[in-house]
Amino acid sequence: MITPHLTSQLTDLLGTDGVSTASADIRLHAADALRPGRLAPGSAPDAPAPQWVVWPATVDQVQRLVRLANQTRTPLVPYGGGTGLMGGALPVHGGIVVDLTRMAAVRRVDAEDRRVVAEAGAVLADVDRALDREGLMLGHDPWTVSVATVGGTISTNSLGYRGGQYGSMGEQVLGIEAVLPDGRLVSTRPVPKSSTGPALHHLLIGGEGCFGIITAATLKAFPQPEQRRFHAIAFPDFESGYRAVDDLFAIGLAPALLEYGEDFAAPTPAGWTGAEDADGSTELFLVFEGYAELVAAQERRALAVCRKRRGMSLPESSARAFWDHRHRVADRFVAQRRDTGLPPYLQPQEPGPIADFVHVALPASRVLEYRKRCLDLAAAAGVWVRDCGLWNRPELFSLALVDGDGDAARLHRAANAVIELAQDLGGAMEYCHGVGLRLAHLMAREHGESLEALRAIKRTLDPAGIMNPGKMGL
Ligand SMILES: Cc1cc2nc3c(=O)[nH]c(=O)nc-3n(C[C@H](O)[C@H](O)[C@H](O)COP(=O)(O)OP(=O)(O)OC[C@H]3O[C@@H](n4cnc5c(N)ncnc54)[C@H](O)[C@@H]3O)c2cc1C
Repeated sequence: MITPHLTSQLTDLLGTDGVSTASADIRLHAADALRPGRLAPGSAPDAPAPQWVVWPATVDQVQRLVRLANQTRTPLVPYGGGTGLMGGALPVHGGIVVDLTRMAAVRRVDAEDRRVVAEAGAVLADVDRALDREGLMLGHDPWTVSVATVGGTISTNSLGYRGGQYGSMGEQVLGIEAVLPDGRLVSTRPVPKSSTGPALHHLLIGGEGCFGIITAATLKAFPQPEQRRFHAIAFPDFESGYRAVDDLFAIGLAPALLEYGEDFAAPTPAGWTGAEDADGSTELFLVFEGYAELVAAQERRALAVCRKRRGMSLPESSARAFWDHRHRVADRFVAQRRDTGLPPYLQPQEPGPIADFVHVALPASRVLEYRKRCLDLAAAAGVWVRDCGLWNRPELFSLALVDGDGDAARLHRAANAVIELAQDLGGAMEYCHGVGLRLAHLMAREHGESLEALRAIKRTLDPAGIMNPGKMGL
C-alpha cells in the first residue's frame, strides 16, 4: 500500500524526479527478465509490483534510503539492467525498487594499475568504452553487455564470452563499495590479492541484493589483445568434441571463448526418444586472444587436439558470424521490453511450445554421463532437448528443454529433474544466472547445512529483513 507519508519522505530524500508511483514505471520495474512459466506452477507471484520506484544518484542518498526503509520496515529491491533471468529483482513483497542506473559514472580508469572504478549502475558496454580509450578492456562480455550493469552482474556472479580466459564477473572484482542493510557504508581494499581475513565483498558477489546495495566496484582491466583468432570446428558426435575440449583443459589451454553446442532435430510425430535420437550437429567455436606468440601457440595446439578427436575445420567466417551476432538475443530482449513497456513476466504469453534452460556446473568426469541421463530423463518426461553444450569450460554444461504442448507443469518437472541430477552427481545447480525465485526451493538441497550459516549472516546484517526479501531461500 502506498503511504503518502513515505512518498513524501522519499521525495524529500531523492527529489521529485527521483521517486515514482506512476503506473508505467511500476509496471516496467515489476520484474526482471524472468518468464512466469519458469516458476513452479502455483508459486508464480500473480501481479508483482513495487509501490515505489526510486533512482538514487549518490551514495549518501542510498545510505539514507536504506535507513528510512529500516525505520519503516519497507522492502528494498535493487535493480540494475533488469536482465536477470531468475526473478532476483522481482519485488515479491512489494516495497521500493531501487533503480541504480543514475549511479552510472565511471569514476576512474587507473591505467597503470590496470583497473577501473565504476558505479553500480554503469552499463558494462559503457565501462568497456571508457577502458578502450586507455588501450584496456573489461574481461566480462555477457550477451547482455549493452544493458546489464556492474552491480547486477556482480550480484549474480555472471559469466560471459571470454570467461574461459578472464573468469566470471565475480573473479574480476578487486574491491566493492556497498551500503549494508543497516545503512553503513563499507569499502573493501581493491587489490588483486590480500591475506587479511575473509573479504566481505565475497558476500556481495552472487548476493543478489540480499546483503546490501553495491554502490561501486573496482574491477580488473585487461590489455586489449594484440591478436584475436576465430575457429569453428565440426565434430561427428558430442563425445568427440567433448573429449577435444577436455584435452585442451588437461594441458592447461583455456581459449578466451569456447562454445560447444549440439542441436537436435525437432521430435517426429512418434516423439522424442532420448539418447538414441541424439545425432544432432555439433559445432565448436573457439576464440584465442592475447599477445601474438601465445595466440599462435594456442591455435596450433588446439587445432591439432581437435583433429585428433575427429574435428573438421569449418570456414572462419562461421566463427566470425557467431562472434559478431553474439549479443543479438539480448538486443531483441531490450527492444521487446522497450516496445511493450513491460518486462517479460507481464508480457502476454503466446500459446504454443515453451522452453526452459538449465546451466549446471559438474565435475568434468560426469559430464558425458550427465548429458546422456538428461536426454533419457527428458524423453521419459515427454519434453524435447532442443540443444545442449558447454560454455567456457568442460565442466559448464547447459541444455534447453522444450515442451511442444506448452505444458508448464510438465516442463518444470523435467527441468527440476535434470537440475537435481546435477546436484546428485556432485555439481552445482546453476553456473551463471543466480538463484532468485526460480531456484530458491532447491537452495537447501544445494547448500545443506551451510544454508543455515548464510541465513544466520543474513539475519545478523539485516535483522529487519528489508533487503530483497523472499530471494535465494534465505
Ligand atoms: C537475453 C539475455 C541474455 C543473457 N545472457 C547472459 C549471459 O551471457 N551471461 C550471464 O551470466 N547472464 C546472462 N543473462 C542474465 C543477466 O543478463 C545477468 O544475470 C546480469 O548479470 C544481470 O545484470 P542486471 O544489471 O540486469 O541485473 P538485474 O537483473 O537488475 O539484477 C540482478 C540481481 O542483482 C541485484 N542487484 C542489481 N543491482 C544491484 C546492486 N547495485 N547491489 C546489489 N544488488 C543488486 C538484483 O536485486 C537482482 O537480484 C542474460 C539475460 C537475458 C535476458
